[in-house]
Amino acid sequence: TENNQRLSVFLKSGIYRFQGSNTVFVDPVRVLNLSYTHFRVSPSSYYSRFFQPNHSARVSENQRKRKRKENKTRPLNEREQAADERHRRVKPLLVEAHDCLLGANDLLLILETLRIDDCKTIDLKCDEHSFVELGSVWQAPLFEISLHLNQDDGLSQGCISVQNSEERNIRAFGSLVANDTSNDMEADFLNCKYIIPKQSSFYMSDLKQIHGLIPVKNECGFNLIVIDPPWENGSANQKMKYPTLPNRYFLSLPVKRLAHTEGALVALWVTNKEKLRIFVEEELFPKWGVKYMATHYWLKVKADGSLIGELDLCHHRPYECLVLGYCYGKDEESEYFSKPKSIPDCQVFISIPGDYSRKPPIGEMLREYIPSSEPARCLELFARELLGGWTSWGNEPLHFQDSRYFSMK
Ligand code: SAM
Repeated sequence: TENNQRLSVFLKSGIYRFQGSNTVFVDPVRVLNLSYTHFRVSPSSYYSRFFQPNHSARVSENQRKRKRKENKTRPLNEREQAADERHRRVKPLLVEAHDCLLGANDLLLILETLRIDDCKTIDLKCDEHSFVELGSVWQAPLFEISLHLNQDDGLSQGCISVQNSEERNIRAFGSLVANDTSNDMEADFLNCKYIIPKQSSFYMSDLKQIHGLIPVKNECGFNLIVIDPPWENGSANQKMKYPTLPNRYFLSLPVKRLAHTEGALVALWVTNKEKLRIFVEEELFPKWGVKYMATHYWLKVKADGSLIGELDLCHHRPYECLVLGYCYGKDEESEYFSKPKSIPDCQVFISIPGDYSRKPPIGEMLREYIPSSEPARCLELFARELLGGWTSWGNEPLHFQDSRYFSMK
């Protein structure tokens, strides 16, 4: 039946498209694992929250407290009213998307199993590094990362070639480190192991050095640029996870110079704060040379399919927004220059969230809107992980590549 087919596509691709709807359900672990040949992102390390049975009880107690607080407080100011208006407009859509999920019994049964690991986990020997701190010390330019091909690689092909045991040392900060092979690589950095997926590269630096990432040749620019900036949001919890920056710093991101001559689809994660939405529409996109096209929504659910929080809770919405726009290329001959594809507004993707503020991989969902005549060149800015076929930039792009997040295939 059609349902069975959708499920089997989901089990392979991690993406479930609801029929006749603008909604998809995503299992980030399955999507990420398409990048790996020898390792697997371990589901239990990805889904560290929203599976524990007592989680729901704890959360709803917190929500009740917040709601009481919100009810008691002053009436909404002008900006909050505008944000409320935006929310009112998208709410029916989000409810409809959520109903799609609740109506898909076969998929709901699978949700509970997404966290189950059936693979060997990797022994952990070292404490997690803070790349943000390491990158800021004076010795940073001296640190090297050593890349080596997975040793099984030769074995699986029935021979061990000398080349496969080759090791390469490269500066870890401020240089482009690439795995151009079609297999995962292991990398050693200060006594810890990192997994580098096939066809991926990263550039680890502070925003001040992002210019090192600008391609020398225009045709080496990027067709898809996903950006998840460290917006300030006042939450103490977040400040402990990573440093944030005031909005004006993002005006200097060289988006146009990173874009391919044929142009780029730009996907920017934003919070629900009205001040930020206005900044993006009126200042940031114009400064980057990006034309606004559409907004998509990420709806967050728990393993039982219920929302992680109430839709109407003003400061803790169970969804986030992805603002999409086109950055036109310099190649006026390109077919994409004159007629960029239109992007439908208000698509919804649903997933169970990973670690704090880790975003689901969205490349596949955006593929059809990417302006490119060849395989798309994809870039993630402020990344904390690597993906096959992508370049990742940020001050800690290896964060989730630590071998502790992986098991052997
Ligand atoms: N999209 C990521 C994910 O799903 O895991 C989360 C990105 S998080 C919102 C923002 C990232 O920007 C953090 O890794 C943070 O360390 C990094 N960052 C903060 N200040 C930076 C700076 N000055 N230069 C480069 N990266 C910075």
